[in-house]
Amino acid sequence: MMLIRLLTFTVLAFTLAPVTWAYDLLYTAKIDPDTKLARVELALSGKDIPSKLSINLSSGRYKDLKSNDPLEIKGDKAIWRPKGRKGKLSYSFIIDNQRSNGGYDSRITQDWAILRSDKLIAPISATSRGRSNARLKLEMPNDWSSALPYPKIESNFYQLSDPTRRFVRPKGWMIVGKIGSRQDIIAGTDTRISGPKDENIRRQDILAFLNWNLPELKKIFPLFPEHLLIVTADDPMWRGGLSGTRSLFMHADRPLISGNRTSSMIHELVHVGTGIHGDDQSDWIVEGLAEFYSLEILRRTGGISETRYEEAMDKLAQWGKKAPTLLVKRSSGPVTARAASVMLELDKEIRKSSDGKASIDDVARELASTRGEVTLERFRKLSERAAGQPVKTLALENLTSKEP
Ligand SMILES: [Zn+2]
Repeated sequence: MMLIRLLTFTVLAFTLAPVTWAYDLLYTAKIDPDTKLARVELALSGKDIPSKLSINLSSGRYKDLKSNDPLEIKGDKAIWRPKGRKGKLSYSFIIDNQRSNGGYDSRITQDWAILRSDKLIAPISATSRGRSNARLKLEMPNDWSSALPYPKIESNFYQLSDPTRRFVRPKGWMIVGKIGSRQDIIAGTDTRISGPKDENIRRQDILAFLNWNLPELKKIFPLFPEHLLIVTADDPMWRGGLSGTRSLFMHADRPLISGNRTSSMIHELVHVGTGIHGDDQSDWIVEGLAEFYSLEILRRTGGISETRYEEAMDKLAQWGKKAPTLLVKRSSGPVTARAASVMLELDKEIRKSSDGKASIDDVARELASTRGEVTLERFRKLSERAAGQPVKTLALENLTSKEP
């Protein structure tokens, strides 16, 4: 499942000059297990603080917005206009969030909280002339600790970064509370597996699995994040995997390799590595690549034999016949299975046309280097560049009609 969806932010070009901060941006979140709320404060200071910030409240999880500066709330939007060199805005964030099938994708208990930092801090677009030095400070009960995919300045205090934005917000999964973590540097990525203490979580198994497979994945995606946080927990958390920026959530019950030999862990890691999302008809590209590589990486690392790999791919192709078209808004089940088969065919075609000089890796790497939205047109263009000629696999009839 792909959760990364870019909201409308003010994206401004950044220069290659040494970083100079135009202003400080300090987020403070006081997490309270009794009220199940986080009281969040944004504090701006410096001579060039943004003059206008537009805050998106559409998730319905933000309340009690306050500021001494002009603040206008219109429906799902708040416009905040800080004056002078300092500005403060605060609000309460409702941590618990249950998905339609009943599982939680955000939850606080008396002992821990698992949530997304990009939900905790509301989506904001800002009019600003310079770059922000953004940091996040967490205030919590005394015996709690935290894990986020960012470098620590000190305990529960993080330096945020996002080279593509001037107004930086935290992103990805976070876990706080009485938690247990295992950490290692894997192929240059600071990798941390964290979950609530006293739950049946196999942190060492996951870490060993990553030691074994992440280096192969990073060969395809050299821009893979320097920090990776894997959050895992038991019921009543959502019983699946959900990727985020530099991080993912995986339910503690999920096997690292499923009965059909695909790996949801590698699938979600591919989402973290590519950072792409589809337009209205291209989710199959995002999901198909993740599912294809969830088998392909295991094949390359010796996790499955060639014979088992082919059997697993054949099964996906059979299942995929139930999908009449790939061009749907959300790819899942048979659509994703069929999409993975298309990726396998595409890989074969690119290798053949290029005399083995190129493969689908070149296409995936190129998509991951720009991240953002992928369209069929761009995917086809990159595939043809890798193949050195038009590719038959991506002909429209191959993607939309049933096989004979
Ligand atoms: Zn997915």
